[in-house]
Amino acid sequence: MTTDSHPSDEKFKVILVGGGTAGLATAHFLERAKKEGWAPSYLQVTVYERNEEESNSVRYPLQLSHDARSALQTILSPHSNGSLVSQSNYGITHGGVNIVNPDLSHLYSNVKHQNEQPQWVHRKVLKDVLSEGVNIVKGKRVIRVREVEGKFEVVFEDGGNELADLVVGADGIGSLVRSQTHPSFPNFPLLPYVLVQFKLATPIAQLPVMLNKDSQNIILGNQCNSLHTIPLHGNELPHMTPRSAITLSDQGPFAEPDSTVLAVQQALRDPNTGYVLVRMYLNVSGEGAGAGAGWEDLTEAAWIDKILNILRNDGTDKGLVEVVENDLIPGTITATGIVSNGPGKHVPYSNGKVVLVGDAMHAVPPTNGNGVAAALKDAQGLVETLLGCSEMAGGAGPIASLLPQTYHASLTRSEIYLKESLHLLEISNQSGLSGFIHKSTLRLMDMF
Ligand SMILES: Cc1cc2nc3c(=O)[nH]c(=O)nc-3n(C[C@H](O)[C@H](O)[C@H](O)COP(=O)(O)OP(=O)(O)OC[C@H]3O[C@@H](n4cnc5c(N)ncnc54)[C@H](O)[C@@H]3O)c2cc1C
Repeated sequence: MTTDSHPSDEKFKVILVGGGTAGLATAHFLERAKKEGWAPSYLQVTVYERNEEESNSVRYPLQLSHDARSALQTILSPHSNGSLVSQSNYGITHGGVNIVNPDLSHLYSNVKHQNEQPQWVHRKVLKDVLSEGVNIVKGKRVIRVREVEGKFEVVFEDGGNELADLVVGADGIGSLVRSQTHPSFPNFPLLPYVLVQFKLATPIAQLPVMLNKDSQNIILGNQCNSLHTIPLHGNELPHMTPRSAITLSDQGPFAEPDSTVLAVQQALRDPNTGYVLVRMYLNVSGEGAGAGAGWEDLTEAAWIDKILNILRNDGTDKGLVEVVENDLIPGTITATGIVSNGPGKHVPYSNGKVVLVGDAMHAVPPTNGNGVAAALKDAQGLVETLLGCSEMAGGAGPIASLLPQTYHASLTRSEIYLKESLHLLEISNQSGLSGFIHKSTLRLMDMF
């Protein structure tokens, strides 16, 4: 496949900065197009990822919304999609995928959902599937992107550099590519919410009876009434010493977990392990300016104390507080400030040869799986545009003339997600409504 605009002996190089959801999905789709013959062989795709190792967050499951699932169905080949689906196993044995409690399992049995995609996926499972066939170089941090004689130069921390025909900034919320190509958007502001997640070693069948039987959600008091407990089915965790979390917290921030806790932490590395995931969106708007800033830096022990205090002061059912005291698995707490570029404050389109995707372009709160959906939809949109451009032997025109429209579509979509997420966060933080909202969500997902 050659075109007037691209000599066959020259590569068309695409560099993706960042190997998260958006970067891997873009690269996977492009490689699949090459393999299946709808992209020319001169297309060369490389992902540069700063981290050598996966971060802790890879052990948390991701919610896959309807949009995320439909994007995955386009991006993945039937084989890879089958692999994702088969590893998911609909919550009967898999740790990353199930949705609600066992009482509802008849509603989404293997039979009903045969060959359908999961609503929750273990990040590692998704990353592994998206990484298949992708040329990814780990441990390479990009520190500069600049135009050099019609091409784009990517400079690495180790002093190396590479020229590309197209650079895709898929480097997440703190995007370096965005800060260099759009200096007026160096950072997205923090919303007054903190997302706290942790895991419980409670055997799923023994979840306290007061947990809402028909919803993931428990309605609490004033502060944290959008707390979700999500039982993710899979192999049982080893038994943990009762009150490990609170003991660790009593011993201070640098206490060593005991051997039973270490065994549980080890078991969690296997994506087939079942556990209870708890998520809280804390409204920290009362904390003053820069609400939420610094919360995520608290030590683990401080977080355990903070969580237990919040739950007790919020009038949470004593049985649930006891479960958290006994079964919170040390080493599994993450607290993340929620950032957003705010509706109507989009990163402008600036250049046809450097493009942003995923959180780098638009920070979307993770509510309802919108963060991943936005990243996957961006990847799908960008690849579809790229495959149609004249540089790839398509008939739709040069890439630089097509990208503004793709950009616009992505920003419009992310703005819708953003408004929906903010609305949900606000409503679910009004006492009493969160159960209703989450039931409605389940209903929308055709699961209730
Ligand atoms: C705790 C937590 C829970 C979440 N839960 C959900 C959920 O349930 N559902 C949902 O939809 N969303 C969720 N989200 C949001 C979701 O993870 C993001 O929206 C989504 O991953 C965005 O994908 P991305 O590829 O744009 O960015 P990221 O996944 O952040 O990937 C960016 C990648 O770029 C790499 N990188 C950064 N800078 C450089 C550099 N200079 N050079 C090279 N590499 C670089 C990073 O190491 C990273 O691997 C959650 C987020 C958090 C923090």
